[in-house]
Amino acid sequence: MFERILIANRGEIALRIIRACKELGIQTVAVYSRADERSLHVQLADSAICIGNSASAESYLHVPSIIKAAEIFDVEAIHPGYGFLAEDAHFAEICESCRVKFIGPHPEVIRRMGDKAEAIRAARSAGVPVIPGSEGIVADKAEALKVVEKIKYPVIIKAAAGGGGRGMRVAHTDVALTSALQTAQAEAEAAFGNPAVYIEKYLENPRHIEIQVLADTRGNAVHLGERDCSVQRRHQKLIEEAPSPAITPSIRRAMTKATLKLVQEVGYVNAGTIEFLLDKDSDFYFIEMNTRIQVEHTVTEMVYGVDLVKEQIRIAAGERLSLDQRSIRPNGHAIECRINAEDPADRFRPCPGTIEFCSMPGGPNVRVDSHIYSGYTVPPHYDSLLAKLLAWGRDRREAIGTMRRALDEFYVNGIATTVPFHKHVMHHPKFVSGAFGNHFVDEVVRDQGWA
Ligand code: ADP
Repeated sequence: MFERILIANRGEIALRIIRACKELGIQTVAVYSRADERSLHVQLADSAICIGNSASAESYLHVPSIIKAAEIFDVEAIHPGYGFLAEDAHFAEICESCRVKFIGPHPEVIRRMGDKAEAIRAARSAGVPVIPGSEGIVADKAEALKVVEKIKYPVIIKAAAGGGGRGMRVAHTDVALTSALQTAQAEAEAAFGNPAVYIEKYLENPRHIEIQVLADTRGNAVHLGERDCSVQRRHQKLIEEAPSPAITPSIRRAMTKATLKLVQEVGYVNAGTIEFLLDKDSDFYFIEMNTRIQVEHTVTEMVYGVDLVKEQIRIAAGERLSLDQRSIRPNGHAIECRINAEDPADRFRPCPGTIEFCSMPGGPNVRVDSHIYSGYTVPPHYDSLLAKLLAWGRDRREAIGTMRRALDEFYVNGIATTVPFHKHVMHHPKFVSGAFGNHFVDEVVRDQGWA
């Protein structure tokens, strides 16, 4: 096992990784930007080093500074968390060439699955259903029109290098297609430095269901069931739960089987997630693979009693998976609310600033993963996630009850948060019934006059 790991991230996920390391008896090195000098991950790691200015490009995305920090502290491995460099194949290659283990899959696999058009090709060749669309990248309007002739409107134009819901545009007509193509390409170029886009049939109000996998270097792979992430705003997840209220055991069997086939097809190692859309006829389609730990891994941990971050570290150290498929059993239901520094009543406007006082929920069946504390200043430079609030119950109804109670205990003073949005959703008849799709948040926002 490793003796010392560097964590190339910040916020709640840096804390999450530090916790896993401490429990495994591994020393931790935190890196931080100037804006994060007073952050909890800096205080809780065994060592910490400032790697640059507040802007991500000059710190958490600045590869030479991170590699230098790894050399100074003589670490054996780097955990990238999610976001920042987590899906950067070039960074993973540099780590390997500096003899530092990158805690994730092989760089070639990151590269292949990071190109979404290429990932769809891999899914197709593994026999996994994909959404009708273009065969790879679409260069211009003429090509786009040819695809539309085959699949018909509505369509969605998506960035091949996409992530975080950026670089996506829906079109219902030829006129809209032209501008959607241009804006998607421009947005993709600005966000990912790569304007390549592809086209898919746009499914009306599907559900987002994803399967968690773990695979070791010895050819063993297991799945840990699904997460339902259909509560999204602008293609970004706000609430996740496990299991999904929408799928039957036979759909689950088919989805997990398809997932493991794809994992085998691409030679996947470490923790990963295969994302699907489920349409109203209960047909499911692959949309992408995330080759890293995800924000919402925690709902799976609560239901399966597995520590996914420890498993990631063990796999990277070359150990055999400590679980086999037969011993992996779900227990009850878990829900996660992402508490963001955003004002739901003002179009979810980001609200960085100083938290005068905060108090986190506790009690039975509640988990809070958060880096905030009273007096902490939320910097404007990074994403707005303040805390992941999780609630467990023996069934979905009980989990909703736990979450309502926990949200009432969640107190933050000084900045606006998404707590009022979550309180509303936990009492919304559609959410409570379980019968909702990816457009649910749009409906809530409209009905509440929050648009
Ligand atoms: P990203 O990598 O940016 O997160 P995804 O491909 O995972 O992008 O899609 C994010 C969300 O966008 C999905 O959960 C879904 O709500 C919506 N979406 C993506 N593709 C389609 C599609 N073909 N039809 C309908 N909605 C889609």
